Amino acid sequence: MILVLLGPPGAGKGTQANLLAKKRSLVQLSTGDMLRAAVAAGTPLGRKAGAIMERGELVPDDVVIGLIAERLDQKDSGGGYILDGFPRTIAQAEALDHLLAERGTTLDKVIEMKVDDDALVERITGRFACAKCGEGYHDLYKLPKRAGVCDRCGSTEFVRRKDDNEEVVRARLKAYYAQTEPLIGHYRKQGKLRAVDGMADINLVQKAINQALDTP
Ligand code: ADP
Ligand code: ADP
Ligand code: ZN
Repeated sequence: MILVLLGPPGAGKGTQANLLAKKRSLVQLSTGDMLRAAVAAGTPLGRKAGAIMERGELVPDDVVIGLIAERLDQKDSGGGYILDGFPRTIAQAEALDHLLAERGTTLDKVIEMKVDDDALVERITGRFACAKCGEGYHDLYKLPKRAGVCDRCGSTEFVRRKDDNEEVVRARLKAYYAQTEPLIGHYRKQGKLRAVDGMADINLVQKAINQALDTP
């Protein structure tokens, strides 16, 4: 199964992709994570992308399409994958259709996660993650079960993203509405779009996504 999770920053794409990947043995592919890895490694691509990401703008299409193309050819993605944060422009969506067709496959479904803007800003500004394993948390909605200790790996170190502040979030939302939202119509036309209410609790959203995947 090949899925896309579509939604604004903070909609819960990463959270839901992670749960779905475990439940359905799919590989989670996040262009945001790939780009942050390139930034951390200090590669030329990472240096260029890092400055753009700090402003909350989108990295050029050819860069992210290149990252995804490379990733699709790795063996582990053979059993199916969840694209989290890609595509984000019509050009990326068209490139994805192409890449999949070349590999004799096609996108199954696109899950659109709907969340109000005010909630998005609150989610983004409260987001943090385990520094060691990357498990995602939130100051209000998903605290570790034991204060200060990661549920998954026991680490006591956590990180916040540089771009997760209110000012940059506003820029990211602007980029979403201008460049990414048009994908909703694109996928509706293809008959692949399924919308879920992203305002519900994490486990209820997961249920709704699974339901959408299990009904034709
Ligand atoms: P979010 O939590 O906002 O959905 P991501 O981790 O997916 O964040 O992306 C972080 C940043 O990485 C984006 O603001 C953008 O600069 C860049 N980025 C990630 N994916 C893409 C993409 N498909 N196209 C262009 N830029 C991307
Ligand atoms: P995205 O990948 O779309 O940017 P995340 O999955 O990182 O979004 O979620 C953003 C923040 O909101 C995280 O801190 C996460 O723990 C929290 N979160 C995710 N889903 C929900 C939800 N349904 N209700 C409340 N908080 C949520
Ligand atoms: Zn951890």
